[in-house]
Amino acid sequence: MDLIAIKADDIMLKDKGDSMIEKRIDELIKLLNRASYEYYQLDNPTITDQEYDDYYAELVKLETNYPNLVREDSPTVRVGTEVISSFHKVNHAVPMMSLDDIFSKEELLDFDSKVKKVISKPEYVCELKIDGLSVSLIYEHGKLVRAATRGDGLVGEDITHNVKTIKSVPLALSEDIDIEVRGEIYMPKESFIKLNEDRRKNGEAEFANPRNAAAGSVRQLDSKITASRGLATFLYHIPVVDNLKLDTHYEALMYLKRLNLVVNPNVSLQSNIEKVWEYITYWTNHRSELPYEIDGIVIKVNNLSDQRLLGYTVRVPKWAIAYKFPAEQVLTKLVGVEFCVGRTGKITPRADLNPVHVAGTVVRSATLHNEDFIKEKDIRIGDTVSIRKAGDIIPEVVQVILSRRNGDELPFKMITTCPICGSTLVRKEEEAAHYCLNENCDARKINGLIHFASRDAMYLDGFGDRIIEDFYNAGFLKNVADFYLLDNYRTELSEREGFGEKSVQNLLDAVSDSKKRSLDRLLFGLGIRHVGKKTAKILAEYYSNIDNIMNATIEELSIIPDIGNIIAQSVYEYFEVDSNKKLIAKLKKLGLNMEYIGKIKQLSEHFANKTFVLTGTLSKSRDIIKGLIEEKGGKVTNSVTKKTDVVIVGENPGSKLTKANQLNITIWNEEELMSRL
Ligand code: NAD
Repeated sequence: MDLIAIKADDIMLKDKGDSMIEKRIDELIKLLNRASYEYYQLDNPTITDQEYDDYYAELVKLETNYPNLVREDSPTVRVGTEVISSFHKVNHAVPMMSLDDIFSKEELLDFDSKVKKVISKPEYVCELKIDGLSVSLIYEHGKLVRAATRGDGLVGEDITHNVKTIKSVPLALSEDIDIEVRGEIYMPKESFIKLNEDRRKNGEAEFANPRNAAAGSVRQLDSKITASRGLATFLYHIPVVDNLKLDTHYEALMYLKRLNLVVNPNVSLQSNIEKVWEYITYWTNHRSELPYEIDGIVIKVNNLSDQRLLGYTVRVPKWAIAYKFPAEQVLTKLVGVEFCVGRTGKITPRADLNPVHVAGTVVRSATLHNEDFIKEKDIRIGDTVSIRKAGDIIPEVVQVILSRRNGDELPFKMITTCPICGSTLVRKEEEAAHYCLNENCDARKINGLIHFASRDAMYLDGFGDRIIEDFYNAGFLKNVADFYLLDNYRTELSEREGFGEKSVQNLLDAVSDSKKRSLDRLLFGLGIRHVGKKTAKILAEYYSNIDNIMNATIEELSIIPDIGNIIAQSVYEYFEVDSNKKLIAKLKKLGLNMEYIGKIKQLSEHFANKTFVLTGTLSKSRDIIKGLIEEKGGKVTNSVTKKTDVVIVGENPGSKLTKANQLNITIWNEEELMSRL
């Protein structure tokens, strides 16, 4: 399929002619209709739901800006696809609609405001959005007589013979009534895993997801196959409620339950939109615990007469909305590779991506770590890649989608010279990264300054990356000591574009404030190789001031717990360099604090450099005891090995005590521990 020629975001809509927009609309409609055919008719999608939703959103945006270009065959004015299978076609007396999607809290609040224009105090029912396919069940005199798919909303497929094999669909209701009920047929995770395992063993193509597997399973000519697939249902809608004496959607759900139909147990009635958001947040974090897949939350106005007041568009009800969970892994095109130079000179290749939404933010680039990472994954320029973002960590490429290659992709080539200063790059033995060794490389210097000013180091509040780069390029900042001399350029700084006296004063205040930071932050900020935040703290706690550290030998440094030879050597070498000694002297003169501010460890011969293991119940929490031991210079680990020095035994000790006895390791009870502490 032809993908992404241009994107709506990239178009300055006003500046481009209508013909270009028309072309893109045509492209999107073809792409989306083809995807729908593969998804609904073949149960075999070739693009992900996230890609479909992104293209769909782009089409909506274009159609909103150019209402004269909305076409009859646009997916935005239709539900699903026309039925073309060999199943009997059935007409839906009441159309089966889709739902409008939203992806953020902002859009949820927007939905609430629109509802409130019609209804003063709406209550909402929140339901899990089951990732299956919708089904209509018709009961006559309480007996199941027909089951049908949604199809294009007006005409669906008769799948009665198959649905009768699904155990959770009662063939008879608890009441002798005529009723149509609607809901979702889905495949539980367990059935899905087993089905794909079996298909793999039989050399058959696996289903992309439980939704497609469920759809494929109910659209079988042989109902024995459907019966073997372990499908299930949840019902959530009664299209015609006349004579049922139901006032609210929630009551309708309870009624479905009384009829012996399965209703999802996590349905919940909420009194306002903030509570709805709490429900969404809860299920965003807990959905993996469910035995079936959900792809979002459906929010419905509770009162049925309110629903009637709000009404419908041609495609969706205006009284309901589907919040879709952000995709954790998304596909996009890798359009190029750039190289970044870090403060240590490390070169990190970075993928330039076609912008895409991941976990709520737009991502335009992702780290590629190093040459080996790229080669191992065989990443090429022009590839479609899946990317993921965990927490706040920068996005990374998970894998290349090989099936999307068309032969135009360009192989990756690692650069040999620094993209900033042009010096030859070096790949050190046993390291995957390439380095620029030029200490005067501008990129290294700028990143060193940025690191010094960062939140975990000296925290120069207000000094963003751009400001630092700008001040460096303008010659105000050459090394970290220059931050403390900026006061001399007060007038020049205030005259720079985007700065005024007040903003300059704020920056100078931040500089002055940073002078009192604790030694560990300064050590970390200096950017000594191998000295991260944690190591800086250990050193600062141990030595309490910078002179002690500068006077320490490699041997002295390396006996400190958690400071190995490599760190010891690096710290020692740093303070041996003349320019570094001068820098420290200058910083001292400029009034920076050189002492550790915090609790100093009182090292004790019983604990320093010794490894402890705790077993059994102790009178204080393990965290407290661990803290006490660490304060005296000891280390607490989890398992007893030859390297363990002492095992502390509480009540009902476990197998660790047996092992300690076998290995002849010193054992203390809690009393002995406390007396030594
Ligand atoms: P939808 O899946 O976004 O939402 C509507 C559907 O949600 C309803 O029809 C119903 O079946 C279901 N649903 C589940 N739980 C529900 C509940 N508690 N209450 C009400 N409804 C509930 O809309 P759609 O029209 O079925 O499908 C469109 C979506 O399908 C797209 O957003 C896309 O993600 C996916 N799609 C993907 C491709 C592809 O190629 N990957 C192609 C077409 C469509």
